[in-house]
Amino acid sequence: MTQNLAKHFQGPISNVFDVVHAFWIAGGSCDGCSIATVGATNPSVENLLNGTIPGAAKVILHHPVLAVNAGEEFIKPFRLAAKGELGAPFVVLCEGSIMDEGMAAETGGYWSGLGADEDENGDPQPIPSSSWVTRMSEHAAAVIAVGTCATWGGIPAAANNPTNSASVMDLLGEDYRSALGLPVVNIPGCAPQGDNITETIAAVLLFLNGLAPLPEFDELGRPSWLFDETVHRGCTRAGFYEEGTFAEEHGDKECLVEIGCWGPVVQCNINKRGALNHAGGCMNVGAPCIGCTMPGFPDSFAPFYKTAPGTMVSSNISRVTGTVIRNLREMTMAFQNRTPKWNKEGKVPSGWGHVKEPNLVKKVMHYTYEKMQFSDSPKPGSKK
Ligand code: SF4
Ligand code: SF4
Repeated sequence: MTQNLAKHFQGPISNVFDVVHAFWIAGGSCDGCSIATVGATNPSVENLLNGTIPGAAKVILHHPVLAVNAGEEFIKPFRLAAKGELGAPFVVLCEGSIMDEGMAAETGGYWSGLGADEDENGDPQPIPSSSWVTRMSEHAAAVIAVGTCATWGGIPAAANNPTNSASVMDLLGEDYRSALGLPVVNIPGCAPQGDNITETIAAVLLFLNGLAPLPEFDELGRPSWLFDETVHRGCTRAGFYEEGTFAEEHGDKECLVEIGCWGPVVQCNINKRGALNHAGGCMNVGAPCIGCTMPGFPDSFAPFYKTAPGTMVSSNISRVTGTVIRNLREMTMAFQNRTPKWNKEGKVPSGWGHVKEPNLVKKVMHYTYEKMQFSDSPKPGSKK
């Protein structure tokens, strides 16, 4: 089901913003989502920072790793935003899972934080990332969870997780709405495709300036246009699946379903979009899908690289139907590899190898095929 939130926004948004601040807050993460973001090309981070997308506000990024300032100078805008005193619209971008800081505090520690406040003794104490997210989310135009740890909990939230990790959605709850009326926007992936991140940010920026409708999100807050389809539907190996030919080991060119690909049930667009600048992507480089964009990842897809039970039915059906279809196609392809002249002369004049002439059965079958092909239109070269 697609959630169309446009009903919250009757009429045009009156302000046109020149700048929008973007605050990047990391929880339990590996920084892979930051790396994926800076690798984006369409649009790139530079496009967002320089304001080169027509109509979209220029982004002022506050990122703990990419910032050129440090200390209190870096933290000050976070403090203002958390109090609703920034004086400009902002979005919060969360990377990494939200770890249970109450649990860490029991032993006097913390899991992840940014900046410090003084305690009653005047000693600096780290400000937990989850505290920033909670306080800033009240005033944010949008809270965007980036990557599977932030969207669903991810690897830190796998079974028996010792930090009680969970997602941004779990932290803010189902009733949360941003200043624009949006629930948490989720861009999953471990790491996500970089363009999925920057494109969603750009779409929100255009919406903020009243130049585009609010994008559609599904019932889990994923941008619908990016996550509606399964990875299988856009896979470069889907033709092998359909014809019932399957890889037996890593490095084979065929469909990877029998060596553990979950693509038919996983919502992800990486095969269509590529990993980076339209190159790469899991199956394109030989990797079976392990479902990294899905809320059930990683536990529901374990053990990795083992044939999923559903495959026993689906790939075996494809094997049976595909064998028949593949042979018929190969026969048609052999005829399509010939010119009218070669057909007339009954010989292919190739110096590269001997091309076998079709036997009588194949010729009869192809004659019937062509009769059907040209049943309601003249065959090229015919007198009719
Ligand atoms: S490799 Fe995976 S996604 Fe690609 S066709 Fe096979 S099952 Fe589908
Ligand atoms: S194809 Fe599967 S493993 Fe690869 S990015 Fe998409 S969901 Fe993750």
